[in-house]
Amino acid sequence: MTAATPSAARTPLDTIVAGIAHAARLAGREAADVTLIAVSKTHPAEAIRPLLDAGHRVFGENRVQEAEAKWPALRTDYPGVALHLIGQLQSNKADDAVALFDAIHAVDRPSLVDALGKAMARTGRRPDCFVQVNIGAEEQKGGCGIADVPALIARARAAGLPVAGLMCIPPADVEPAPYFALLAKLAREAGLPALSMGMSSDYETAVTLGATHVRVGSALFGARGSAAA
Ligand SMILES: *Cc1c(COP(=O)(O)O)cnc(C)c1O
Repeated sequence: MTAATPSAARTPLDTIVAGIAHAARLAGREAADVTLIAVSKTHPAEAIRPLLDAGHRVFGENRVQEAEAKWPALRTDYPGVALHLIGQLQSNKADDAVALFDAIHAVDRPSLVDALGKAMARTGRRPDCFVQVNIGAEEQKGGCGIADVPALIARARAAGLPVAGLMCIPPADVEPAPYFALLAKLAREAGLPALSMGMSSDYETAVTLGATHVRVGSALFGARGSAAA
């Protein structure tokens, strides 16, 4: 019999998990030390369920309101989900963010640090925090300036935030590796273990340079609508 039995289709999740493992191996790292954050922003619950059914449990959203609409129901159906806020956060949404998320990746200014500190004191919840660095010193980008990183970390610690590490989004359309390497150096200097860097187009490079958290959206879910961030 030569009729081929179709092998189980390799899903985008399989491909990315394998890509992370390969990059980790190249760098002499353990794949288990890299967390894949599946960035489900703009995608409805029906698009997210297949990943949950496949056993994936770490997801990223960039808007508090969108996450509040989608995730409570999914969390009831799939226990053990960890939700990461990867987008800009307004200080007046700090309470909602602390209530819903397990990690916050865009801590980038003193006013937000203070709002998160108060929200954590009020709720008793302490999501891991990442200080976002404007690693390419781009005018239009969020993130704390490189020179201001130590002071913002100190302020965050003083406000009671559990500072896990640093996060960046390198400039578009240029080789990201030097920016990833610089973020890794800043984290080392600050004694911080976690590095949130790498997206669909460059997560393997980020892993070879020390990423502990990669944020992958379109490579898992397909392209977002053109109106999406
Ligand atoms: C949307 C987004 C991602 C995922 O981007 P993809 O290119 O779709 O993988 C990662 N990080 C942040 C901060 C984002 O806003």
